[in-house]
Amino acid sequence: MRLTIAIQKSGRLAQKSLALLDQCGLQFTQSKDKLFWFGKTLPVNLLLVRDDDIPQLLLDGVCDLGIVGQNVATEVLLRQCSDGREVELNALRALDFGHCRLSAAVPETEQYQRLEDFQGKRIATSYPHLTEDFFRRQDIDVQTVRLSGSVEIAPSLGIADAIVDLVSTGTTLRANHLKEVAQLLESQAMLYQTNKPLAVNKQILLDRLLLRIDGVLQVRESKYVMLHAPREALAQIAHLLPGAESPTVLPLEGREDRVAVHAVCTESVFWEHLEALKAAGASAVLVLPVEKMLA
Ligand code: ATP
Ligand code: ZN
Repeated sequence: MRLTIAIQKSGRLAQKSLALLDQCGLQFTQSKDKLFWFGKTLPVNLLLVRDDDIPQLLLDGVCDLGIVGQNVATEVLLRQCSDGREVELNALRALDFGHCRLSAAVPETEQYQRLEDFQGKRIATSYPHLTEDFFRRQDIDVQTVRLSGSVEIAPSLGIADAIVDLVSTGTTLRANHLKEVAQLLESQAMLYQTNKPLAVNKQILLDRLLLRIDGVLQVRESKYVMLHAPREALAQIAHLLPGAESPTVLPLEGREDRVAVHAVCTESVFWEHLEALKAAGASAVLVLPVEKMLA
């Protein structure tokens, strides 16, 4: 029995999704149509699709897991709710890529002051459910104009007063003389599953995959730090190592007063950290990348 994961075929999430699975040790043979990749290293197959289709493929049981932005998954979840169907999507892991925000923007010339200014406005968006849900919870009545692309030109075309769209740098907004005035959702790519239980074999495989994903996510920041330290400064030095649990302390041949300290730092190690360590008496400080990690 094979686990099937749906990822975006091409676009902002495609490369990073593949890179993550690659770092987890998954390798695939591509099919001719390139829509279905067969896992060589583990019984895990890939389905390459449009990101918007991933939540529905999950809900329909076509795939077991999916990597997609929270923005897309939440929109589908809210649509499901409004259809009165049972909601069945769980986020298993935040994957720390595809960061963006879903924001409301109005023409630069608009005298915007507060959220209530949206009262009675027409808002163009590809995320009607997220938009309606957000303003409903604030007790503000808005009318959504559903567009599947080029949302940012809607105000200048006169078909909407404002927009709700994804923003990362704000360049597109500025190019269209719009200003960002409110944030509806902060989003990143997530690994999703439905709440239908998996077959035992698949669940075992998923648990293995999750351990590897956790390892990959941790390793991104992690460094292996080695240094020499005065024995009496050990407590202080251990405290200065960012995100390290009890370090390994080793004797140094022929030295009573100094020891070697080895530690895995799970947070970024900056020059400032090294300077503080040196000031505390550390010498021979080495910072090494961590290749793999399994908790
Ligand atoms: P597809 O053909 O798969 O439907 P798309 O055009 O909908 O592609 P992309 O533009 O590749 O999708 O964006 C995919 C996801 O990347 C978005 O849903 C969002 O989660 C994330 N993302 C990150 N930054 C941005 C951004 N600046 N603009 C749009 N999406 C972004
Ligand atoms: Zn899409």
